[in-house]
Amino acid sequence: MIKIEKSERLKKLPPYLFAEIDRMKEEVRARGVDVIDLGVGDPDLPTPPHIITRLNEAATDPQNHRYPSYSGMNGFKFSVARWYERRFGVPLDPQTEVVSLIGSKEGIAHLPLAFVNPGDVALVPSPAYPVYHIGTIFAGGEPYYMPLTKENHFLPDLTTIPPEVAEKARLLFINYPNNPTAAVATVDFFKKVVAFAEKYNIIVCHDAAYSEMAFDGYRPPSFLEVEGAKGVGIELHSLSKTYNMTGWRIGFAVGNKEVIAGLGQVKSNIDSGVFQAIQIAGMAALDGDQTCVREMQAVYAERRDILVAGLKEAGLNVEKPRATFYLWVEVPRRYTSAEFTAHLLSKAGIVTTPGNGFGAPGEGYIRMALTVGKERLQEAVQRIKNVGF
Ligand SMILES: *Cc1c(COP(=O)(O)O)cnc(C)c1O
Repeated sequence: MIKIEKSERLKKLPPYLFAEIDRMKEEVRARGVDVIDLGVGDPDLPTPPHIITRLNEAATDPQNHRYPSYSGMNGFKFSVARWYERRFGVPLDPQTEVVSLIGSKEGIAHLPLAFVNPGDVALVPSPAYPVYHIGTIFAGGEPYYMPLTKENHFLPDLTTIPPEVAEKARLLFINYPNNPTAAVATVDFFKKVVAFAEKYNIIVCHDAAYSEMAFDGYRPPSFLEVEGAKGVGIELHSLSKTYNMTGWRIGFAVGNKEVIAGLGQVKSNIDSGVFQAIQIAGMAALDGDQTCVREMQAVYAERRDILVAGLKEAGLNVEKPRATFYLWVEVPRRYTSAEFTAHLLSKAGIVTTPGNGFGAPGEGYIRMALTVGKERLQEAVQRIKNVGF
């Protein structure tokens, strides 16, 4: 028996803030409560059938059973470039400005290994998807947290970053439409980001996982639409949310050639690319009829309207989001985020996520994911009205 000791990088990770929620969820379920889970950002809808059919065909072809090309199949990269040009009007060189990813999470986690040295700073929003700061820590970097608050419309205020921090920063992460706050960014904000990145020589990584999950005709812009953006950074996309493919593990990064090459170099030494049959199915998704995307948007918009209206009637403060499948709900004044999450779970059998679990400035909020059907959301509203707060 040897003594197993975790590495410093694992020891450095913040404690898992959702452990307590997970424990309570099990306890409530064990009591026989019919739990409504609005906790996890994982679409409940199935992958559209034409994508599954394509996977089935591609899976039977022995050519697809071998190692794929590290940076992605040419066909997939060309599909990405066509989709990008159609969707954002931004041309991409499929050979040098696109790399396939095993989901965008993989790309985010590996990016700092390519560009952050121990002691370097990465500018990370807070609250945020945890992978930005964890990827930074794994590379030995130091996250500097940019608070996202109601006052700044959940956009980082770059003018508050001390110049000596900006000088040490190698990477800047942003994410719009945003998880967890559901905020959206304007092209004007992206312009400020480009100017800031140019001034301090910082690589920008824009996580656009929710670019297609938007409502009421709103079309979120790409970071790369802004002049100079390709000179400073990359954008990450995922098929996970757009086509209900979270379990398939496919995404892509596009933009600055040198950044794409650096990320690709890390990847070629760690993973061996995405199963070709999945890339071929991904091509069917990107090149195919986009009716499924509009249907997905309509489903979430309807759910959003039901839950937002219901929560407001119940007396809670929430903005109606223009994108993402999250509601960022203010907790009533006499509760903390953790207390309100616990209250909703133990009294109403509803799982939500405490905002501070995504970073300290998320305190005062809970996140609800629109990942259950509308009857269940109506039921959730009814329960909240019944138990009060
Ligand atoms: C869901 C999500 C992703 C997508 O991750 P994949 O690895 O592509 O499934 C990326 N970023 C954010 C902020 C997300 O919420």
